[in-house]
Amino acid sequence: MKVVMLGTGMGTVMDLYNTCFVMQNDRGVFLIDAGGSIEIKKRLKKANIKLEDLENVFISHSHADHILGLIWLLKGMAGVIMKSTHKNKMNIYCNDKVYEAIEGIFSYTLPQDLLEKIYDYVNFIILNNGSCYDINGVYYEFFDICAKGSKQYGFSCMLDKKKFVFLGDEPLNSLLKENVRDADYVMHEAFCLDKEKDIFHPYEKNHSTALSTAKVMSELNVKNLILYHTEESHRDKSELYKEEAANEFLGNIIVPNDMEVIELV
Ligand SMILES: [Zn+2]
Repeated sequence: MKVVMLGTGMGTVMDLYNTCFVMQNDRGVFLIDAGGSIEIKKRLKKANIKLEDLENVFISHSHADHILGLIWLLKGMAGVIMKSTHKNKMNIYCNDKVYEAIEGIFSYTLPQDLLEKIYDYVNFIILNNGSCYDINGVYYEFFDICAKGSKQYGFSCMLDKKKFVFLGDEPLNSLLKENVRDADYVMHEAFCLDKEKDIFHPYEKNHSTALSTAKVMSELNVKNLILYHTEESHRDKSELYKEEAANEFLGNIIVPNDMEVIELV
């Protein structure tokens, strides 16, 4: 399994793309969030992923930087969808609030004839806390991350006996500590460096810093920590974030840049 980071930025980035990624194995691809713009099409193309090969998509929550790219994906597939030449449907996994948002956005932004075909093509799977699905041969358990903002889901899965956890774009709620303890891989947001918190105000925006995340993940005995959803003021953020996180976290720290591939097992 590899993780292809299509974007690693926070909500309002312009040089980076908003955080979204693909879980890719020999069975296929699973897209996690879509970013906020038509740039998603370019990122998928760069990663050699054809839109019609996207059979499984998960949208974590309804914020613009995670959901709006979906409109452009489906609009970009209009040719395929209208002609009904596709072999397989697209499964979109999301919680009920995300579904409401998607339905609303679709109805206001897409032409009626395409809309009807899209509802034919897309299979919405509304997630509950603890819902489990086999996607490309991997068993994913989706859970409510108990976000302070809009209703948001993350997931965990086992990859060759290694536990992988994706925690969305809010700081870990202490209710979820046991979902994370001893995990092999944890994906957690880090909005900025702790030493730059007075510039970027992560806590006011309900986000974390590299240092604060590292501290929590160290206490939970996580082995590999992947940090994303960052601001974009540093040309090479990777080394800076890693260096800061290493003050608290002794395991492996990965701070990917856009389009970086993380090989998992
Ligand atoms: Zn976000």
